Amino acid sequence: MKDYYKILGVPRNASQEEIKKAYRRLAHKYHPDKGGDEKKFKEINEAYQVLSDKEKRAQYDRFGRVFEGATPGEGGFGFDFSEWKKKPGFDFEFEDLGDIFEEFFGGGFWPPKKDLKRGKDIEVEIELSLAETLKDQHKEIILRKYIVCPRCQGSGAEPGTRLNECFSCRGTGQVQEIKRTFFGTVTRYVVCPECGGEGFRPEKPCNVCKGEGRIIGEEKIDVTIPAGVDSGQMIKIKGKGDAGRKKGKPGDLYLRISVRKHPIFERRGDDLYVEIPISFSQAALGDEVEVPTLEGKTLLLKVPPGTQSGKLFRISKKGIPHFSGFGRGNLYVKLKIKTPRRLTKKQRELLEKLRQEGI
Ligand SMILES: [Zn+2]
Ligand SMILES: [Zn+2]
Repeated sequence: MKDYYKILGVPRNASQEEIKKAYRRLAHKYHPDKGGDEKKFKEINEAYQVLSDKEKRAQYDRFGRVFEGATPGEGGFGFDFSEWKKKPGFDFEFEDLGDIFEEFFGGGFWPPKKDLKRGKDIEVEIELSLAETLKDQHKEIILRKYIVCPRCQGSGAEPGTRLNECFSCRGTGQVQEIKRTFFGTVTRYVVCPECGGEGFRPEKPCNVCKGEGRIIGEEKIDVTIPAGVDSGQMIKIKGKGDAGRKKGKPGDLYLRISVRKHPIFERRGDDLYVEIPISFSQAALGDEVEVPTLEGKTLLLKVPPGTQSGKLFRISKKGIPHFSGFGRGNLYVKLKIKTPRRLTKKQRELLEKLRQEGI
């Protein structure tokens, strides 16, 4: 995950003014036209775009990332109905030409065929240690997100009030929309922005959610992360994203798995690799050496006489469990012969004798 604060070199509680200043200074320094690093420049811009926007910054602080645009899962256009409503007079000039082309030649409709009431998907990062991937992990996460309004149970109507026909669409749920485009004026029917296509509106919107049917709240969610997961893997938990508007479908929750690097074991697929140092005499004469496992137990490995440095031994089924739930990877032990850095007087004498013997 990118740390936008680090990228801009500002503290987490930095003011908008400080963020702006840091951005200006860095953008100047890394501007590609002035021979700066383009990748870095892009990163700085990305960080600034999030941190300079109050809403995006709050979301970033909360979830560690910003959800917008395409989100995983169905219906993920990131089309926010409330945003749409905010545009005065339904002036769609803010759309860029690309969208219009796609609309005309891509066979698409506007607004995109999607559930306007569906809640957004949420993505959170779950960090695990390598050892935690050995067994299913049960975690409790607390999410701040849209939850169903407890007062109206999501209907958006103040309890006990009547539902009236929507004045905007006269109950049809659709309104005519006239759109000026590059190619002329186009008229078509779109989902009514007032009632969201329902055709009716409550006489009195709910006092708590103001008719939205959902409010920002906290939800505790118990999740099970199966054994064998790896970094970058996404686990979908259906229906645990943002609650929908007015009894709309909830979004989904995605857990993005991040497995921390282990100081001793290296993971390759579901196999583990560990390097064990042995002495020259152990390698030449043979010995038994202790090998750690990810579970914490130690195994004894028989080193045959005449073992060469770099020799790989396989210990079956001591790797990471397969995500499928059946079987697990292997543990590979690489023996590395270490040359002593310092010798005692006696060791030196003995080695000198060995040298005379041609070893
Ligand atoms: Zn309500
Ligand atoms: Zn309507």
